[in-house]
Amino acid sequence: MLLGEFELITVSDGTFRLDGGAMFGVVPKSIWDKINPADPRNRILLSLNCLLIRAAGKNILIDTGIGSRCDEKPYEIYEITRSAGLEESLRKVGTPPEKIDSVILTHLHFDHCGGNTRFDSKGNLVPSFPNAKYIIQRKEWEDAFNPNERTKGSYREDDLLALERAGQLKLIDGDFEVSPGVRTVVTGGHTRGHQIVIIGNAKKRCIFWGDLIPTTGHINVPYIMSYDLYPLETIAEKKKWEEVAVSEKCLCYFEHDPRVTFAYLERKGKHIIANPV
Ligand SMILES: [Zn+2]
Repeated sequence: MLLGEFELITVSDGTFRLDGGAMFGVVPKSIWDKINPADPRNRILLSLNCLLIRAAGKNILIDTGIGSRCDEKPYEIYEITRSAGLEESLRKVGTPPEKIDSVILTHLHFDHCGGNTRFDSKGNLVPSFPNAKYIIQRKEWEDAFNPNERTKGSYREDDLLALERAGQLKLIDGDFEVSPGVRTVVTGGHTRGHQIVIIGNAKKRCIFWGDLIPTTGHINVPYIMSYDLYPLETIAEKKKWEEVAVSEKCLCYFEHDPRVTFAYLERKGKHIIANPV
């Protein structure tokens, strides 16, 4: 996908399944089940798509999927399927891990940053992208290391400590320009330090939603995940940014949607709909 001088390439870490009820919060199953059929364990299929941005000779990766380090239990609970995995997916498009210059993490839930690290030949955890800076909101970093009873299942500290040890961590405070035309914007909502990424220039932009709008099934404003810690903030930010996406005809990237990755948003009567690209 070309967006002006930016090349946008989907690289996949596979798929997994989460509880459909948790994914749609207060929305009844009789409604969400029609477009997201649940399996016998009430789970719906979700993708683990990450975005590779090539611009001005630099390679920027947004999010790193679930990674290869899960033990058997999460594989069973979440039906994690990684036929290729992120590293292989990157190699296939000619950008091996050592060529990544920056990794932007929307937030630090294990399904967004599990591929941050890998085991080296001696069994030590090391960053998967040896030449990259990992760009993370400081608030998110702090919350990952001070979880509460509700949030502790979402973070894996060892995905993160290896980055600090290797000196590859870049903690940021607020909106940040990673490189010309690639900017992170803090939305909060899902977590305190959740950020989306805006790519492009004033004429043509792409919004990487992260977990602000995980799938096209979440465009409708009240369709919010139970995982969100600050749902009213999610509502406000969704409204604001969906309006921008519609009025400026921004390309949109849906990280967890197993069917639609890129789409444009359009207002149709009361609703906003997605037109897949
Ligand atoms: Zn999340």
